[in-house]
Amino acid sequence: MSPQMQIEMPSPEQAPPVLILNVDDYEPGRYVRTRLLLEAGYDVVEAGTGGEALRLAALRSPALVLLDIHLPDISGLEVCRQIKSNANLTDVVVLHLSASATSGPQQVLGLDSGADSYLVEPVDADVLLATVRSLLRVRKAESDLRRANSSLLVSNQELARVNSALRASNEDLQRFSYLASHDLQEPLRTIICFSELLTKRYGEQLDSEADAFLGSLREAARRMSMLIRDLLTYAESGQDIDTRSPSENCDLNDVLNWAKENLKLSIDEAGVSFVHGQLPTVLVNPIPCTQLFQNLISNAIKYREPSRPLEIRIEAMPQGDGNCLISFADNGIGIAPDYHEQIFVPFKRLHGHEVPGTGIGLALCRRIIERNGGRIWVESQGLGRGSKFCLTLPVQTLT
Ligand code: ADP
Repeated sequence: MSPQMQIEMPSPEQAPPVLILNVDDYEPGRYVRTRLLLEAGYDVVEAGTGGEALRLAALRSPALVLLDIHLPDISGLEVCRQIKSNANLTDVVVLHLSASATSGPQQVLGLDSGADSYLVEPVDADVLLATVRSLLRVRKAESDLRRANSSLLVSNQELARVNSALRASNEDLQRFSYLASHDLQEPLRTIICFSELLTKRYGEQLDSEADAFLGSLREAARRMSMLIRDLLTYAESGQDIDTRSPSENCDLNDVLNWAKENLKLSIDEAGVSFVHGQLPTVLVNPIPCTQLFQNLISNAIKYREPSRPLEIRIEAMPQGDGNCLISFADNGIGIAPDYHEQIFVPFKRLHGHEVPGTGIGLALCRRIIERNGGRIWVESQGLGRGSKFCLTLPVQTLT
């Protein structure tokens, strides 16, 4: 057998041939078209009347109906209308064919009855096949799109469901940490108060060891109280931003002055020199923003390099995307690259009790920035080489 004569056997997983309903009362014409379609690889069923066409369409759901306009019982236009109004056959493509109804208005009528295309006979065999292929391609693309849309709809609904479950559990968690922090403060206050009372009233009867024990007890209670206070601030910052902290046009020069004022004592004590130009006006809530500036400045003070005077350089650079990049660079002890991400995790500290702190400060900064749609990160060349905290804030102003 020559290679050209080999017959290709359909593989079992091949899709079944596309079914076409060929409707024409003129038998020779119908026969020629059926042969043409079969040779092109389609499956074909035939009908010689409108009634038979409707029956077969409902029974076999063809992909395409090749529909003659002039049929002995029902007009092809009516057959088309009935197919198109059948909810089970919405995907069926109708291609009208006519040798007599060839005028413009007649073709318009055919297309208005719902047909997808209209060919005037005699039709060249290649043109007929190309038209069939093109119509089927369009229909396939439409149904693929519909399928993709409906699976997108399902995914969206699932996303909305997961989102609202997440929001609910987040709110529960916020409520829990808020209440826990609140309720824990009270017994701590009692511990601190009574240990102070003990020292005051019975201090003279206690030996130095007992006095030291009491001192440690007080110190631990104070640290825990600080931790709980910061936890409370962090929990509060997670509450609904729309009701707690609406954004407004906020002059960052004012914010910086407020933060400096609040930290005046430690700034003077450390002899900090600030280097900065004019800062922009951004769209944030000034209260958390002041807290953010305060945290960054007080960290620069806490983690300064004792061998050199501390300098904090604040710069602002518009980003061209509606945001402004603001950086706080210090010449302090720096941060090893391995910790650049971890320091923003709540309670993550790189220091022991020798430096006061709870590890909440930067987590709070991140939350404040992210709630304003921005980002915060740190850049540092490593230990001893200073740190630069960068953040983005929206600059567009409210009118
Ligand atoms: P805290 O200061 O209470 O420990 P933060 O969340 O503010 O908590 O900071 C987390 C850690 O990041 C700190 O323990 C410190 O090691 C490091 N860090 C923060 N700011 C600086 C800075 N400016 N220079 C060097 N290290 C810093």
